[in-house]
Amino acid sequence: MTATLIASFPDKRKLPINVKQFKWQTEQFGDCKILRYLVPGFDNLPLKQKEFIYYLSQAANAGRDITYDQNCKYNLLVRKTLEAIYLNYKGDKTSADFQNFVVYLKQIWFNNGIHHHYSTDKLVPGFPKEFLALLVKGTDKKELPLAKGESIAKFIEEITSILYDPKIVPKRLSQDVSSDLVINSGSNFYEGVTQKEAEDFYSRQKSEAKKNKKDTLVAFGLNSKLVKENGKAVEKIFKIGGLYSQSIEKIVFFLNKAKDVADNPQQASAIVKLIEYYRTGSLKAWDDYNILWVKDLASSTDYVNGFIEVYGDPLAMKGTWEAIVNFKNVEATKRTETISQNAQYFEDHSPVDPKFKKKVVKGVTAKVITVAQLGGDSDPTTPIGINLPNAQWIRKEYGSKSVTLDNITYAYDQSSLGNGFMDEFANSKEEIENAKKYGYLAGSLTTDLHECLGHGSGQLQPGVTGEALKNYHSAIEESRADLFALYYIMDQKLVDLKLIPSLDVAKTEYDNYMRNGMMTQLVRIQPGKNIEQAHMRDRSIISHWVFEKGQDQKIVEKVTRDGKTYFKVNDYEGLRSLFGKLLIEIQRITSEGDYKAAGELVEKYGVKVDPVLHQEVLDRYRKLNIAPYSGFINPQFIMEMREDTIKDISITYPMDFAGQMLYYSKNYSFLPARTEK
Ligand code: ZN
Repeated sequence: MTATLIASFPDKRKLPINVKQFKWQTEQFGDCKILRYLVPGFDNLPLKQKEFIYYLSQAANAGRDITYDQNCKYNLLVRKTLEAIYLNYKGDKTSADFQNFVVYLKQIWFNNGIHHHYSTDKLVPGFPKEFLALLVKGTDKKELPLAKGESIAKFIEEITSILYDPKIVPKRLSQDVSSDLVINSGSNFYEGVTQKEAEDFYSRQKSEAKKNKKDTLVAFGLNSKLVKENGKAVEKIFKIGGLYSQSIEKIVFFLNKAKDVADNPQQASAIVKLIEYYRTGSLKAWDDYNILWVKDLASSTDYVNGFIEVYGDPLAMKGTWEAIVNFKNVEATKRTETISQNAQYFEDHSPVDPKFKKKVVKGVTAKVITVAQLGGDSDPTTPIGINLPNAQWIRKEYGSKSVTLDNITYAYDQSSLGNGFMDEFANSKEEIENAKKYGYLAGSLTTDLHECLGHGSGQLQPGVTGEALKNYHSAIEESRADLFALYYIMDQKLVDLKLIPSLDVAKTEYDNYMRNGMMTQLVRIQPGKNIEQAHMRDRSIISHWVFEKGQDQKIVEKVTRDGKTYFKVNDYEGLRSLFGKLLIEIQRITSEGDYKAAGELVEKYGVKVDPVLHQEVLDRYRKLNIAPYSGFINPQFIMEMREDTIKDISITYPMDFAGQMLYYSKNYSFLPARTEK
């Protein structure tokens, strides 16, 4: 794929959208492919709601630099340097080295930094360091983010070592428990402190809060960087006047605008609280905001905006900034409402030990949403389901909002039809036919069950906290939610509730899940590497565990044909009961905070890869020429003014990924290239 060098963005043409002809995938580079998503229904929204979406989309863009800086302290310096070269380099832009440079820059945009978003390994440039030096020298000095008084030679040395030295930030997130997780992680949540010092700092903070009868339920450490100053660990809070102030001021500016066009007073009051949180950095304000946000069920527009998921922190405390703007898909939401209304039934009938069940499942609200803008950690790669807030105590007392990102899932599904993947890896024609017929429904429903019921089910034993499983927490938690979904998708209750036409939908999901967990998800792992990402570990744990336990009865069979491996489910009911058995154990581990058992499960089934099968899968996959990771180009909103009033807001679907990234960098970059001291 030849790189586009001219930023032709924003695209002001209004595209007549014909879904059949809509180009879902625009390009592919490295292990990434770029997709677009449609926003059906936007044009028919009332103007006020369009305005709300517009302002929040601006707020989503405004925080983009924060995510880069949190992922690694060198990210903004590298991004700004490479963008300056991309736009201003005076030499030959047609050479193979330059094309590889463009691919590398696109990978940095795709991954929000110099580390792979999934494996967290540092990306390797596909061009030699000598060429990097040439690029820098061929670019106007005043366009480059040189440090004060820094010479070009020194600057080249600095950038070269960041990009090429394998000892400098080799991983964004270290999971090697035999060494210091904080020191060995390239993410930018700690500076100059060891893991022990960080852990001590937060246990002291917690015990002091307890002693002084302060709020002990807040998410300690969520919105700060922990640094060493004068030999002491201190927190730098992300807030106006604190760390990332320049970006947060802009976020707040647009939140204020959005507040004035909110759907209702409840939604407006939540935004007011969010602004207070951004101004003060108070974690109590963050909790209060989340309570207001989770109680707002009437609004048809909604959003996520804040320091939220803690996957990026080796100690799972610090939130990476993210944003999503959306509105309700009324038709599809009927599906998840049915699931939510029956939440108590599902909790009561689950196979887990009664003492680990919630007596009353509260406020499991679920809706299907249409995404209008992705931002921060959710852009360009995005989850397909979200369940927030994360605070366990708020979830228990006020419930949680669970959403599935329907138009994103649809874009995945449409773009993957006919790419040859199923023909290569499915065991039979019947599996392929079922996947075509039921795959989209099965996938969506599994996500719904995972998000609406799975994460919200069960309860911890008194005295056990959410952090008990430490570094194994994420993989175990995702397994728990997946198992709940897998167990119930095969339940006759779903047919009775008219959520699925027949259990064939469940069979399709079981086929897909086992094929993926045992085999095809390995396309995302490089030879010789372990599985690290929480959701991948989850799928590996579940599929390998049930495969092993059902081996004697051949519940799932490994088939070899023409030297190729396939997985065949022989006994769907038997498989379901194995999912149930593992759910019982994983719920017990979670409820009791059994760190040792969690570690044994994760390490035995979730980390290691069978090298022979792995190579086979990679070889078969390579022939299909499909990139394993997908990221999205956001739509672009255009405000149409008549004198001082907004006449309408329209939506277009740009084609040019680089153009959008450069547009964002030009208009929404508020942080300096180098982290301030
Ligand atoms: Zn989940």
